[in-house]
Amino acid sequence: RAKALGKSRYVVFEAAMRDRVQALLRVETDLRAAIANQEFQLYYQPIISLKTHEIVSLEALIRWQHPQRGLISPQEFIPVAEETGLILAIGQWVLEESCQQLWQWHQTLTEIPPLSISVNLSRKQFSQASLGKQIQSILSETGVSARHLKLEITETMIMENEVMVSELISQLRALGLQLQIDDFGTGYSSLSFLHNFPLDTLKIDRSFIEGLVTDTEKSEIVRTMITLAHNLGMTAIAEGVETQAQLQWLQQHHCDCVQGYLLSKPLSAAQMQKALMQSHRVFVQPLETSTVVS
Ligand code: C2E
Ligand code: MG
Ligand code: MG
Ligand code: MG
Repeated sequence: RAKALGKSRYVVFEAAMRDRVQALLRVETDLRAAIANQEFQLYYQPIISLKTHEIVSLEALIRWQHPQRGLISPQEFIPVAEETGLILAIGQWVLEESCQQLWQWHQTLTEIPPLSISVNLSRKQFSQASLGKQIQSILSETGVSARHLKLEITETMIMENEVMVSELISQLRALGLQLQIDDFGTGYSSLSFLHNFPLDTLKIDRSFIEGLVTDTEKSEIVRTMITLAHNLGMTAIAEGVETQAQLQWLQQHHCDCVQGYLLSKPLSAAQMQKALMQSHRVFVQPLETSTVVS
């Protein structure tokens, strides 16, 4: 009886494996078509300065409008794209599209200070020696200045290949663009990379911001991360700010910038343009600066 049960479990496991492999293969096939059929779209989420209350940058976030399955989250397809190498073509598209869009906003939104764009890089993209050249040619083709492009990479991407990354970071810095550490605190790292590499910004991961106000351990960690960033001459951005209480806490503790649903969800280019035409401060609620402590 036990043996029979074991066998049937094995069969179930095998079937599940086969289904999973088939699902992955289907996503791969569909991803190839998606590039050709232009099924990707970029959404934009503002990153807001707590000092000026202005939008300092827009993070470009990819969306896949699948003809049958509807909107698919990047968390689902980026890993498959990464595994199959398709991420290189997708990543190139994201850089081109976001720079083109930014250039257009620079032309049309002349009343507001020029915005920057933040683009997420995948680990494969960030291990290509030609990335610097590729970005340089996108910048010159679109007319966007390097100082308006920020690249988001993770700690793990740096730790995996420190020698290669060191060369790449110097190249990218020489072009004049900024580098931000995304999801800070979740990766596998010894903090030593922070003083070995010239980086501009720490983006404190959403998991630390969640429960920040009530969880004293989290608030200690976030306080330390903000201080760490400042002591290294970097700025701190808090990701995933969802409540007014979190916003106030972050302001009181001198976090430089915030991003999250409280301020704005990611918006399509058309929605973002409409919002920006009303005001580049439109997302920010009045902040009680009188409560700031040192
Ligand atoms: P990320 O770079 O950390 O981006 C932030 C994610 O948090 C986005 O999810 C955003 O919609 C979500 N978010 C923002 N504010 C809040 C909030 O207040 N609450 C909650 N619960 N979530 C919030 P999204 O757009 O689904 O992207 C997920 C991840 O996919 C990104 O995480 C990034 O790692 C990756 N990704 C997105 N676009 C690209 C891309 O163009 N290239 C690459 N390589 N990866 C991308
Ligand atoms: Mg990001
Ligand atoms: Mg992030
Ligand atoms: Mg994150």
